[in-house]
Amino acid sequence: MQPAAFALSIDGRLVRTPETADVINPATEEVICAVPLASKAHLDEAVHAAQVAFKSWRERPLADRQRLVSALGDALEQHHERFVELLITEQGKARAGAEWEIGGAIHWCREIARQSLEDEVVEQDGDEQIISRHTPIGVIGAITPWNFPVLLAIWKVAPALVAGNTMVLKPSPFTPLCTLLLGELANQILPPGVLNVLSGGNELGQWITEHPGIGKISFTGSTETGKRVMQSASVNLKRLTLELGGNDPAIVLADVDAKAIAKDLFWAAFSNSAQFCVACKRLYVHEAVYDDVARELVAYAHTVRMGNGMQPGVDLGPLQNRMQYEKVKDLLQDCQINQQRFLIGGEASAAKGYFIPVTIIDNPPDDARCVTEEAFGPVLPLLRFSDVEEVIARANGTDFGLAASVWSNDLEEAQRIARRLEAGTVWINHAHQFSPHIAFGGHKTSGLGIENSLHGLAEYTNIQTVLQKAGH
Ligand code: NAD
Repeated sequence: MQPAAFALSIDGRLVRTPETADVINPATEEVICAVPLASKAHLDEAVHAAQVAFKSWRERPLADRQRLVSALGDALEQHHERFVELLITEQGKARAGAEWEIGGAIHWCREIARQSLEDEVVEQDGDEQIISRHTPIGVIGAITPWNFPVLLAIWKVAPALVAGNTMVLKPSPFTPLCTLLLGELANQILPPGVLNVLSGGNELGQWITEHPGIGKISFTGSTETGKRVMQSASVNLKRLTLELGGNDPAIVLADVDAKAIAKDLFWAAFSNSAQFCVACKRLYVHEAVYDDVARELVAYAHTVRMGNGMQPGVDLGPLQNRMQYEKVKDLLQDCQINQQRFLIGGEASAAKGYFIPVTIIDNPPDDARCVTEEAFGPVLPLLRFSDVEEVIARANGTDFGLAASVWSNDLEEAQRIARRLEAGTVWINHAHQFSPHIAFGGHKTSGLGIENSLHGLAEYTNIQTVLQKAGH
């Protein structure tokens, strides 16, 4: 076993551990380096440090906390290239995707640092006043997945800290490196204990959710794990934000220009090799344009290059880990067994790395696994429809409700459909538009609560109502 090249960050210090685990480059299947495995004692130490730091962090002027969160963005920018290369190496994404993610993280730090929650005077009657204010919760436990390890961590770190909380952050065991590096940089910017970063296995996630010293869990990951998080977080009634899985529909109406939208549709489905919670995972196309859309999508797919993200000209990388690779291969096998027709792709590559080629399936039945399951890999079912009412019902016919999109030149009709879709976000004629100022969250089993915007900031607070009367 190699010595760990990265360290935990606890109370502003770098901490090495006797136990380590290897991190694998998914494009080569080679070991990148070893990372520390935090024990329960490390978690206790980190929570204690965060509790101590909370006492003074919450009292610091808001402008100070905002300045320091913004400085975290500056540090990311100063180390931009190092983060981009590390992200490509550990996550597998192509350079453009890595630059988008690191650029996004910098932007989020700076923009969230401009947000604040004002006290609200609910009632003023003579010498009596009722005020609602936001108070920080305490120590936040943040748990992130492996598809966008940096951006999704910053979506939690920035608002939690601006709102006056401190944090213990745990990245996915598959992609811990950038997050550990972020912790290292934060040690030079933030007061000790404000942001602690611990890498470890899934059990560390469970210990965090059970820890009595933590007041809230902000979790991004699968719905299955989200349910477990909710269960263990009940020990001390932790506050919860859960950003979970999706099986997002896109609905393409009869009046579109297939050639004009093919590129956008392609990226709506296949960005980050479709390891995207809000990837379009079911593409419903009106029968009048079905063949045109299928042809144009396949034509565009042929222009896209998959490979090792470190090589120039590569647009899409491998799946991030072997487990996911095997899961998607199993899904492809199911398509083959059920004699579904591939318009493109369908066979995993025999080369080294967890590569699954872009795969589009021609009108499988609604109960096929590639339609009902969240593939989280580049396998897209193209589904024919003839009636708008019917397609709305099919789009909503899932327990998920993360995002959706509607594609049409008739904006009114698209809006009418959007209103009836059971999803936290609906895009019309585009996809994947996010902003620190736009609320994002799932309906149904896609999640609980909101990230981003003032709604997201408010989720890192409790509401305190003060009812006051002038003294006699
Ligand atoms: P996952 O649920 O397997 O893991 C997510 C995180 O939870 C990891 O850090 C993991 O170590 C930790 N974990 C595992 N078991 C735990 C437990 N019992 N208690 C606490 N933590 C535990 O998810 P993943 O495979 O890393 O990510 C893919 C999933 O994430 C997909 O379903 C995807 O749709 C979803 N996702 C959702 C969003 C969103 O914003 N809604 C964004 C990205 C990914």
